[in-house]
Amino acid sequence: MIFLKKLHNGFYALNMTFQASPLSAILYVILIIIEALSSTAGMTLATADFVNTATEILLRGFSKYLIYKPLINLLLLLGIINTVGTFISLTRSSIKRNIQCKFSPMITKKLSSLEFKHIESKDSWELISRVSDNTITLLMEVYDAFMSLLKIIIYIISVLGIIMAYVWWAAILIFLFSAPLMWLSVRAGRRNYQATKESEVYNRRVKYLEDVITGKGNIEERTLFGYGNYVSDKWQEQYEKGRKYRLKVSARHLLLTRGSSLGLNVIIVLVALTLINPVISGYLSSGMYMGLIGAIIGVLHYMGWDMARSLETIANANEFMKEFKKYLELDESEGALRKPDVEPIVFSSLEFRGVSFKYPSDKKYILKNLSFRLESGKNYAFVGKNGAGKTTITKLMTGLYKEYEGEILLNGKELREYSAGTLKATFSIIYQDFSKYYVSLKDNIVIGDISGSELDRRICEVIDDAGLKDIVVKLKNGTNTLLGRVKEDGQDLSGGEWQRVAIARSLISRAPIKIMDEPTAALDPISENQLYTKLRRLMEGKTTVFISHRLGSTKLADKILVIEDGHILESGTHNELIAAKGQYSEMFEAQRSWYS
Ligand code: ADP
Repeated sequence: MIFLKKLHNGFYALNMTFQASPLSAILYVILIIIEALSSTAGMTLATADFVNTATEILLRGFSKYLIYKPLINLLLLLGIINTVGTFISLTRSSIKRNIQCKFSPMITKKLSSLEFKHIESKDSWELISRVSDNTITLLMEVYDAFMSLLKIIIYIISVLGIIMAYVWWAAILIFLFSAPLMWLSVRAGRRNYQATKESEVYNRRVKYLEDVITGKGNIEERTLFGYGNYVSDKWQEQYEKGRKYRLKVSARHLLLTRGSSLGLNVIIVLVALTLINPVISGYLSSGMYMGLIGAIIGVLHYMGWDMARSLETIANANEFMKEFKKYLELDESEGALRKPDVEPIVFSSLEFRGVSFKYPSDKKYILKNLSFRLESGKNYAFVGKNGAGKTTITKLMTGLYKEYEGEILLNGKELREYSAGTLKATFSIIYQDFSKYYVSLKDNIVIGDISGSELDRRICEVIDDAGLKDIVVKLKNGTNTLLGRVKEDGQDLSGGEWQRVAIARSLISRAPIKIMDEPTAALDPISENQLYTKLRRLMEGKTTVFISHRLGSTKLADKILVIEDGHILESGTHNELIAAKGQYSEMFEAQRSWYS
């Protein structure tokens, strides 16, 4: 019972495969039954007939033509086994394709619908990556494992049935030995899985270090700092740790499964010895003896190795399926897959009223009783040191996190009451680590307003406004040129050029509130200042929120909010804050040299 309970999740996985590909899965079962019966009972009887006839021809001088019938039977049987084997491979491919067609979109859809907190949390992100990377392979492995078990069970029943008819105790002995073997295999499977999970930590680090050593992104720094060897040593160290860990687990596992299959080999010898007597006394023909010994060796081979591996795979699946269920239970964000509304709302105000917030994974409050109001058509600047909570404010504003205390009111209505589509159409954001899409320049921009009209004209406008005109002239196929080096004809852009593409994307968006979260951090303070001034001009009439820890670039804002440790320390225009001689004025003086 306990054994079956342990395999419960394995059956869940099997059921998933049957649902994804019912016809092929059933056909596969039928083919496996035919193959298993032909290669055990069929082969034993055909071999017995062939050997007995050959013996009679040799010893008793029977006509040699009598051998044709058993020989043809034997060849026919081999032909059947081979043909069925080919059909089994074809059916397996069809099952795999069906699993892929059904579950890949489902996993991707779930991934796109997840609440943002799961994407940001390290633990759930690991679970998400494990499930999305391994589900298809695992479902196929589990199905294969169950089919392998089915084959073994048919082998065992048919061979044990024949042996039972002659030497009943040998059949019982084999059966008794297989029970502890099954138990050992399930245990080994569980340990192996846990170890693989733990060794993933090493794998991830190794993968990251590999990227640092060989990746294109770090090439300049790697050359300049010459840290290649240093990171290489670290890579070696992590790789060795992971390797030794896996080796230890594999060695123990091998010992368990190989040790038990050695025991089964002893049984072969015992059975072979025991069956000799019935042969001598005429209960068992010599042909049947040979057929049976061949079949027993086959069965024990499967029991000692394939069965251990299949049970282990199913036990692995047991653990994995628990994770898969956990993945399916992760909260989904309502309307995550919704497109932004075609027509954005007419924005009048956005107000934070006594908002406090902590990340779900943390106990510490990041925002503390925060209150401010943004009004339509004005420029706001959130300034403050790194870690003060500025980006967190934007995540709340845009509805990525909903577990805040206090109220966030958009046009006087609680933000949580708006649909995801409306919120998506209300905000456009450029982050410091803005996305670089390796598609055409045109598509890179259009993503900013997928449901918009007159796109060609507007693309030309924003290309002008974002200062991309000179870049377009240099591109081989103009705006249709693929960006990035993923494809051969793709053209890479410099950091600053990519930045302008991100700005063009934000400019084309019809969202009434534009948020810029340090998108110019890669620029020097003077260039940042110039770009901000230009952006402000381009976005005239829109509500803009600029976030920066550099004050020179934000001094033209209608209102500056100085954030510290999750609350507003002071707010006002640049002149008001300078006159107040508070922290803003101090920070501005400290940074003055950057701009002179
Ligand atoms: P800023 O934008 O002002 O530099 P952030 O809003 O990014 O600051 O971060 C504020 C604080 O919240 C920091 O202490 C940061 O470590 C923490 N933080 C940011 N994101 C998360 C997260 N997903 N989970 C837990 N803590 C976070």
